[in-house]
Amino acid sequence: MEDIVSLCKRRGFIFPGSDVYGGFAGTWDFGPLGVTLKKKIMDEWWNYFVENRDDIYGIDAAILMNPRTWEASGHTATFADPLVECKECKSRFRADKIADGISESVTTEEFLETHTKCPVCGKENWGPIRKFNMMFSTHVGAILPDDDAELAAKSIAYLRPETAQGIFTNYKNVVDTIYPDIPFGLAQQGKAFRNEISPRDFILRDRECSQMEIEYFVRPDNWEAEFEKIYKECDNFLETRMGLKLSDINHLEVAPEDRAHYSKRTVDFMFNYPNGEEELMGLAYRTDFDLQNIARESGKSMDYRDKMTGETFVPHVIEPSIGVERLFLAVISSAYTEDEVNGEKRVVLKLSENLAPYKFCVSPLLKNKPELVAKAKEVYDKLRAKYGNVTWDDSGNIGKRYRKQDEIGTPKCVVIDFDTLEDNTVTIRDRDTTEQVRVLIDEL
Ligand SMILES: [Zn+2]
Repeated sequence: MEDIVSLCKRRGFIFPGSDVYGGFAGTWDFGPLGVTLKKKIMDEWWNYFVENRDDIYGIDAAILMNPRTWEASGHTATFADPLVECKECKSRFRADKIADGISESVTTEEFLETHTKCPVCGKENWGPIRKFNMMFSTHVGAILPDDDAELAAKSIAYLRPETAQGIFTNYKNVVDTIYPDIPFGLAQQGKAFRNEISPRDFILRDRECSQMEIEYFVRPDNWEAEFEKIYKECDNFLETRMGLKLSDINHLEVAPEDRAHYSKRTVDFMFNYPNGEEELMGLAYRTDFDLQNIARESGKSMDYRDKMTGETFVPHVIEPSIGVERLFLAVISSAYTEDEVNGEKRVVLKLSENLAPYKFCVSPLLKNKPELVAKAKEVYDKLRAKYGNVTWDDSGNIGKRYRKQDEIGTPKCVVIDFDTLEDNTVTIRDRDTTEQVRVLIDEL
């Protein structure tokens, strides 16, 4: 993991958030290479699940939502972690993360019985477990510091802790405007915020993240077959679009006692990260739990009317949900490879071509020969017009350029040398095999 964090910073993929001020816990910033890779990951998902299908539509809801959303969804009451404070050093922890064999619903007694020592000071002197709500709150409207508490309380809103509710709250509008045939899905990508007690594990547990979620609305009697179909699609997406090996993913059927009370089936896709197995994505059957909550809270019908039979019912929902940062780290850590070339250690990111930030790197063999630079520029312009993401590199010697392009995952390096001026051929060097071939510029 340290090697990957170091590569991410060294090559401009990911920087600590607010780095210049010493950072800001649980936040990360994507640099020039990172934002390109992140965007490609998100675009591939959108293309796979929305653009390439007739039954899934996109939406983009606001981050700030009416606080009744979180009353209805249960987040105000239950989106909380067990917080425990060390009375000796005042450090605060998530109880279930520092003690073995206990769950999120651990009681103070259960926690004390584990005889856990404080990870900071090593003592064992704990306060009671308190429930800590992880939603970030803010004030909406013109609220001043000297306004009374009642006025301030009325203005509280939350940064959304998940994108899903932005989909559920738009279900009715979509059904009433585009009349989709069931089954149909609504997809959304966007930011979500969780005030993690102790953010850690690089971008795996951060306070601000991007999610990609689909709520797939189905007939209640047909959920099992639809679940299986989406399950296969998720695997296929991870394998063919993200270049992940299914052998690195452990499909964990969540046991009934560990599932959300409304869910009849949940599969956690656990990925083999460098720091151990962690959740990459989740696939959950949510029944009609969310739509029924909204119907109750809003007083509006969430019925779907079948166009053929005239039958009305509240659809059930299957939800594939994935965190972009988690997927980003899975992609980069499975691409991260160390090997040896001519007796020299090399780091190479074997990203699939659809994800690599740059498809080609073009460079003149020598920087100080104007005729080589001019010819290389011509090739560069041509490739960029055709493929988009192409980079230029004339720094250092050719060996150093290759090392750098290997580390950022550029599949092909194109080098213009003196032979190019004679016969219009260039050298193409392959990232993975390091083999070089000569081809005509017109055949690039
Ligand atoms: Zn302590």
